Amino acid sequence: MRDRWLNPVAARLVAAGALMLFVVGVLVPAAPAMAAPTFKVPFPCGQSWSGQTRSGHSPANAIDFNRTNDAGDPVVASAPGTVDRVTDLGGSSYGKYVRINHGNGYHTYYAHLSGFNVSVGQSVGYGKVIGWVGSTGNSSGAHLHYEQRLNGADIKIRFSGTLALYWGTKTYTSGNGCSSNTGSGTVRTAGANLTVRSGPGTGYSAVGSLANGASVTIHCQTRGTTVTGTYGTSSIWNRIGAGRFIADAYVYTGHDGFIPNVPRC
Ligand SMILES: [Zn+2]
Repeated sequence: MRDRWLNPVAARLVAAGALMLFVVGVLVPAAPAMAAPTFKVPFPCGQSWSGQTRSGHSPANAIDFNRTNDAGDPVVASAPGTVDRVTDLGGSSYGKYVRINHGNGYHTYYAHLSGFNVSVGQSVGYGKVIGWVGSTGNSSGAHLHYEQRLNGADIKIRFSGTLALYWGTKTYTSGNGCSSNTGSGTVRTAGANLTVRSGPGTGYSAVGSLANGASVTIHCQTRGTTVTGTYGTSSIWNRIGAGRFIADAYVYTGHDGFIPNVPRC
């Protein structure tokens, strides 16, 4: 797959359109909200944490993260941004917390930390350790209280665009700061073309096909229809582009199950 770039003529048309919107701004509807940053699980690459949402939480859309013996474990920036609060509220509320400004009105909060590893004004990227899990403030045991906010209001949390579980407890595996967040594979069939589907299953519509030997970039993996293919029986499906999925049973990836560091769709 190749990224599609705007050609120069299209880019000029877009620029001209933007200018016209500016000039006649009072006559056109407000621009749509800017796209959200790609937030990732706020722990180092490959770690799995139990994340709980509950309607009685304050604020309601926050996630509390736990894992065994988590006190002192590193907490990392969920997306690139600028640290704009490093605050200790003592024995109340968030206790020690960090806030990161991601631009376009988006902030993330990391609360009940045992200590800080950043200061206000610092730029951070994926995987940057900002502090450590603790139980400061209004907390009855070590955990990370995590929020995403838009224009000050807490929003339902998404990781890599996927909505968190509301309401309940789910295991989230971090792809944050991994050296590579895509995998590569090679289609291997007995010779026939492999059907590309619009979703992770044989019931989804065919949207293309790939020849035996084709190289693919795998952006994320998920479970779908169980398929028996060249590499045995598997319910794993690989997303190889927008609305393009192939059965992992026909793809050589070097791994029997999910590929480490490649996110779940
Ligand atoms: Zn909480």
